[in-house]
Amino acid sequence: MKAYQVVENGKPLKEREIEKPVPKGNQVLLKTIACGVCHSDVHIHEGYFSLGEEAKLPVPLMTDALAMGHEVYGEVVEVGESVKDINIGKKYVAYPWIGCGECPVCKDDKEHYCSPLSTKNIGINVDGGYAEYVLVPDTKYLFDAGDAPDEVAGSYACRGLTAYSALKKANLKKGQKSVVIISAGGLGLLALKIIQAAYEINPIVIDIDDEKLKLAKDAGAAEVINSNDENIIEKINQLTDGGATSVIDFVGASATFDLASGMFGMKRGGTYVIVGLIGGQTNLQLPMTTLTARTIRGVYVGSLKEMGELMQLVKDGKIEHVDVEKRPASTANETLNDLKNGKINGLVCLTHDH
Ligand SMILES: [Zn+2]
Ligand SMILES: [Zn+2]
Repeated sequence: MKAYQVVENGKPLKEREIEKPVPKGNQVLLKTIACGVCHSDVHIHEGYFSLGEEAKLPVPLMTDALAMGHEVYGEVVEVGESVKDINIGKKYVAYPWIGCGECPVCKDDKEHYCSPLSTKNIGINVDGGYAEYVLVPDTKYLFDAGDAPDEVAGSYACRGLTAYSALKKANLKKGQKSVVIISAGGLGLLALKIIQAAYEINPIVIDIDDEKLKLAKDAGAAEVINSNDENIIEKINQLTDGGATSVIDFVGASATFDLASGMFGMKRGGTYVIVGLIGGQTNLQLPMTTLTARTIRGVYVGSLKEMGELMQLVKDGKIEHVDVEKRPASTANETLNDLKNGKINGLVCLTHDH
C-alpha cells in the first residue's frame, strides 16, 4: 500500500510502498477514505512543541518511519478471526488515542492519559491515515458517523473530540452569553458547531484573521472580534455584562493567555481552558487567580466515553457539519506547509485514490 511517511523531523514526507497490514485477533483493517490534517501533525512532523524563547519540548519519532494521520475515516475491508460484530464495507471513524490497556488510567477509561512511552496512538505512534490502510486494534474504537460527509467525519476523532472535551470542562450552562472561544481556525469552527448543538450557546469568537472571523460569524458566532482591536477587553466586558465566565483557548500562545486573563473582569469562578499548542510562556499575576477563584486548566484530546457521547450527537444529526477541503494524499507536504503558515481557512483532509 502507498503511504506518505515522516522519515526525518522537519524534512519532506516520503511517498513509499509499504506492506498492507493483516488484521489478527480483535483487529480491524480500514481502507482510508479521508484523513483530517490536524495542526498537531505540524508539531509531530517538526518534532517539537515550542516552550517559549528558545525552549522546545521534543516529540521524538517512536518509529523509523511514520505515516501520520490520526483523524481517520475508513471502510472495513478485513477483520481478525475474533471479530464477530462488524460488517465488511461499513464506514467508521477510528478513535486514535489508544493506550496500553493495562495501567490504572487505561483501566479508568482514560486511555488518552496513558504514558507517552506506552501509547499506541494511531498516526502518532503507529501508521495512520496518511497510508492507504489503517489497522485498528479493536472494534470498540470504531464509531458510526451517520450521515456526516466523508471528508468531515474523521475530524471528529481529534479536533471534534478535543473541542467537545474542552467544552465539557469549561463549566458551561445552557444558553449562556458569556462564553468566549479563541480561534476561528479548524478547531474553533468545530467547537462553535458543537457548542451550539450541545449547549445552545452562540459564543463570542476571537481571532487575529478577519477572513477566519467571517467564517465564524457565518457559522453562527454571536460576535466576532479581531484580537488586534485596541478595545477588545472593553467590548468583551460589554457583551458579557462585566466579564466572561468561560474562555476556551484553541490557540494556546503567550499572547492568547495574556488576552484571556483580561477577559474575566472581576467576575469570580471563571474557567479558562487551554487547548491549543502554539506555545510560549507567560507571567501570571497570582493574586488575580486567587481573588477571582479562577480555574485554569489544560485539555488533551478526549476519552473513549466522550468520543461515544460526541459521535451520538453526530449520528443523531444534531451537529451542523463544517465544510472541509479535500486534497489528494500526494499533496501531504504542501498541505502541512499551508497549515503551518496559516494559509488554510477552515478544515482540510487528505483522500487516497485506491
Ligand atoms: Zn489532532
Ligand atoms: Zn495505559
